Amino acid sequence: MSSIIRLLPDHVANQIAAGEVVQRPASVVKELLENAVDAGATVIKLVIKDAGKTLIQVIDNGKGMNETDARLCFERHATSKISIAEDLFKLQTKGFRGEALASIAAIAHVELKTKQADAELGTHVIIEGSKIVSQEVAVVPDGTSFIVKNLFYNIPARRNFLKSDTVEFRHVIDEFERVALAHNNIQFVLINNGSEMFNLPASNYRQRIVNVFGGKTNEKLVPVQETTEIIEIQGFVAKPEYAKKSRGEQFFFVNDRFIKSGYLHHAVTAAFEGLLKEGTHPSYFLYLTLPPNSIDINIHPTKTEIKFDDEHALYAILRATVKHSLGQFQVSPVLDFQR
Ligand code: ADP
Ligand code: MG
Repeated sequence: MSSIIRLLPDHVANQIAAGEVVQRPASVVKELLENAVDAGATVIKLVIKDAGKTLIQVIDNGKGMNETDARLCFERHATSKISIAEDLFKLQTKGFRGEALASIAAIAHVELKTKQADAELGTHVIIEGSKIVSQEVAVVPDGTSFIVKNLFYNIPARRNFLKSDTVEFRHVIDEFERVALAHNNIQFVLINNGSEMFNLPASNYRQRIVNVFGGKTNEKLVPVQETTEIIEIQGFVAKPEYAKKSRGEQFFFVNDRFIKSGYLHHAVTAAFEGLLKEGTHPSYFLYLTLPPNSIDINIHPTKTEIKFDDEHALYAILRATVKHSLGQFQVSPVLDFQR
């Protein structure tokens, strides 16, 4: 009998992988912004139309790509960021899987313009459904611009599954804010349907948080700072009287990457014990720095969950640190603000 197993063609494999990496417009936003950060950009501009359903564009002034790389970047497992397995344990970049652009190009119309500073001319690539439609030499600014149009044009089921513009745009903003909060030293601009919604100048952590969430945020923030052998913690928690009924603004960053952790969230909440009105949640912006070899980011393609070597120790340190900060700033107990 003839065998029935065959290797999938690249464009099919890419489409399958895309299902994991790209759930909605916001996933594309995250990947493109992170690539711009990895490219060493100092200014990153995000342009959105119709919640990203019709247009997502990210323009950076980073290092750009040469003619060959402008083509290779769309191949699966094509990356400039790691080369051997050991590199996974000393990651300095957001990306390393080399599958974001391949995935995006499999399910959207993508246009790339890129130029390296020392090159005279740049490159303009058009790719649709994993196929390069054209590549030309072009006069373009230093840096890189990706345009992603008609997301899920060839996967109607996914397209129909998208939520309203309001909901999808909320997700886009969430991703934008997460990357912007993690990289206060980069200027970020967001243009939505033609009007500028954010223009965040390079600044320190506190000023970046205030620029994102508004001027009133400044007085709410209590600084948090601790350095131990296994972790460095910096950032802010909001005073308990500003705790919110809805899940507040809660951000953990590990080595400049936004992550979700129910376990660490619990540690912070525990530090607020006795200070919160029932049913309210504290806001926090906590930046944790750990040795890259003590964490594993490669659990899921979106990299928002990570594994820590010594979770229990981190829990204890985090709780004690936040508690100490709250005490030091003589934050009033519940009874005070109920008067
Ligand atoms: P990864 O980020 O995991 O390497 P991607 O598919 O996101 O995978 O990108 C593939 C490669 O394309 C990157 O490793 C990088 O070399 C290049 N690249 C992507 N975006 C940019 C950009 N904005 N500026 C310069 N190079 C980029
Ligand atoms: Mg990437």
